[in-house]
Amino acid sequence: MAIDRVINSESLDRQEEEFNVSLRPKFLSECIGQTNIKEKLIIAMTAAKKRGEPLEHILFYGPPGLGKTTLANVVANEMGAKIRCSSGPALVKAGDVMGLLSNINTGDILFIDEIHRLSTPVEEFLYPAMEEFRVDFTVDSGLHAKTINFPLKRFTLIGATTRAGLLSAPLRSRFGMLYHLDFYNEAELTAILKRSANLLKLKSDDGTLELIAARSRGTPRVANRLLKRVRDYAQVKGKGHLNTAIVENALQMEQIDSLGLDELDRLFLRALANVYEGGPAGIEALAATLGEEKDTLEDVVEPYLLQIGFLRRTKRGREITTQACSHLGLKLRQKKQGIDQPEFFEQEQQ
Ligand code: ADP
Repeated sequence: MAIDRVINSESLDRQEEEFNVSLRPKFLSECIGQTNIKEKLIIAMTAAKKRGEPLEHILFYGPPGLGKTTLANVVANEMGAKIRCSSGPALVKAGDVMGLLSNINTGDILFIDEIHRLSTPVEEFLYPAMEEFRVDFTVDSGLHAKTINFPLKRFTLIGATTRAGLLSAPLRSRFGMLYHLDFYNEAELTAILKRSANLLKLKSDDGTLELIAARSRGTPRVANRLLKRVRDYAQVKGKGHLNTAIVENALQMEQIDSLGLDELDRLFLRALANVYEGGPAGIEALAATLGEEKDTLEDVVEPYLLQIGFLRRTKRGREITTQACSHLGLKLRQKKQGIDQPEFFEQEQQ
């Protein structure tokens, strides 16, 4: 049972992707939030330009929808460089990388999304490319196999990942700059929504974009998607203009609650509370109970629940917190016995 959800990055269809791209900032001055990263990037880019050198390799990591791809494109625009984009799962063999690298010019950017999903041979093929700007490429096979040492132009690799922890140490160490993207606060999300509403020529009453920002899980992609759903609702049920009632009704229809949690978040927390008595529960077990991909739960559901203190990750597994229980109306039962016993929860209160 995979749930079609507003926050699921996996379910981006073509139309959604076009919408996403149309709202993507092109230069740093248009990027909202992530001040720390922007400052460091400005220094690195200015220094590289002054020296007339390409930038060092960069790794952006953090939950989906926070702007990793956006920043990679922004860096390319700011440096006046061409960007070639690919992703870990798409680069199956060394030849796929070779195809990208052989046409690359000095200062160009190679962007690899989901870089933690590169296969070991492809990753190892990249090491000399990143470090010494050359690759050892094997042509033919068996008796006729020949290794050609192929020099490359000095390029910049920008990697993006939701799981920096899954990157091998040798790959991680080849990045000169590693930046962790944080969730955005409500003021930043409101500013992002104002920018998007302007681009979409969407009119709204004061305070309505703030309502959407508060339910966007700290994530620009979620904010923009909710704006799109609310815009559709306003066109059908109203006069195209956003007011409080339109926003509240549209979000209710999407089953987005006051904290921005959706159906899958609630199912996740309820399974943890009711099936696993509050935890600790392993992520595989939870994924099986919900019929969802483990990766979806780890990448998309858990980061925000951890961030708002609804979930704890311990060595023994995931545990629900009392804040989550009170938000969902789940009643905390007395601890059974012994200090090591997990807390037990009973069914949802009616
Ligand atoms: P990621 O690669 O981390 O999954 P994206 O770069 O695709 O995320 O960002 C998703 C969307 O969020 C973009 O299309 C863009 O419209 C918006 N966005 C991301 N970061 C910012 C930002 N700093 N300012 C404004 N909008 C942003």
